[in-house]
Amino acid sequence: FQNQRYYSAASSKVAKFNGVKDASGNFPVSIIEGDGIGPEISQAVKDIFKAAGTPISWEPVDVTPTLVNGKTSIPADTIESIQRNKVALKGPLATPVGKGHVSLNLTLRRTFNLFANLRPCRSVAGYKTPYDNVDTVLIRENTEGEYSGIEHVVVDGVVQSIKLITREASERVLRFAFQQAEEIGRKKVRVVHKATIMKMSDGLFLKVARDVAKDYPNIEFDAELLDNTCLKMVTDPVPYNDKVLVMPNLYGDILSDMCAGLIGGLGLTPSGNIGDECSIFEAVHGSAPDIAGKGLANPTALLLSSMMMLRHMGLNDYANRIEKAAFDTLAEGKALTGDLGGKAKTHEFAAAIISKL
Ligand code: NAD
Repeated sequence: FQNQRYYSAASSKVAKFNGVKDASGNFPVSIIEGDGIGPEISQAVKDIFKAAGTPISWEPVDVTPTLVNGKTSIPADTIESIQRNKVALKGPLATPVGKGHVSLNLTLRRTFNLFANLRPCRSVAGYKTPYDNVDTVLIRENTEGEYSGIEHVVVDGVVQSIKLITREASERVLRFAFQQAEEIGRKKVRVVHKATIMKMSDGLFLKVARDVAKDYPNIEFDAELLDNTCLKMVTDPVPYNDKVLVMPNLYGDILSDMCAGLIGGLGLTPSGNIGDECSIFEAVHGSAPDIAGKGLANPTALLLSSMMMLRHMGLNDYANRIEKAAFDTLAEGKALTGDLGGKAKTHEFAAAIISKL
């Protein structure tokens, strides 16, 4: 993950950090600690930031869902905090299955128009997996597609969920993908799709991709069917290391978990939800209810997400230092959490990182 090769905040389209310090001389960042393991891993990140002297003030915000005109919403103070700070770090939020409020993750992405979800996956030195050289960069359309939330009962026993694809949302995420490829030095952009079956929706995404590609003559463009991508990636992920992959919402959600599996699991994979006005950084994983409250969670994914955030804010020196300590700790292998085959508690892993700062 060193050298910023997986994410660049340089693009003019990406929300700029406003750089205003608070009364304590630090940059305020909104933090949503989240559910399940969220508070445990957030605490680890906060402890590491404090020990590294990172100039950040955390502004905790509440995301208890409210209903506004029948739609799931988040408290006005929270919206105001994130809009003002332009950056937020977020722990996982649980979503009720098959009933209850609309996913707060979706609500946040829609409220702040976080149109691109960037999910890099890179092998971690010291943790043995079938492949030790995975280096994928996946960008997921983050606001519509299969997650548009438009569902209804047609008649008893028949339901419809609408997959919404618009030229506007497709174009902005595709442009972001080409810009990222240029800025992080990848030569190719590949669209992952199923336009053979979803001829209209994925067909439109693909058509827009072909149009956008014309504006980036230095970047090669091609397309691949999702099922083929899955097969090829688990057989040999290395040919994907020179590409930026970009795709509709659901495919990106699933394929990025598969990539996580290639490098050692969800405890290791960060992400950034990028918008024009603000950006929210979060781990790919969920609230892990099976291990919540036991001090067993691996905080690496949230920590690496917070490194993306620091780079987004231009605080690269802090990111480099913390990241090196984290990767050295992982490579040393003495204080690994259970998901990586170790016995360390979350706070012991964090303490090992702090001892290397
Ligand atoms: P999950 O990612 O929470 O857990 C899947 C498996 O990975 C579990 O065995 C868990 O213990 C393990 N795992 C995940 N993160 C880990 C970590 N940091 N350290 C060690 N092990 C870790 O997926 P799930 O169980 O399907 O979902 C649980 C809840 O999280 C659901 O309510 C779901 O909607 C929500 N969710 C939220 C987000 C988000 O906030 N962005 C993302 C995915 C799922």
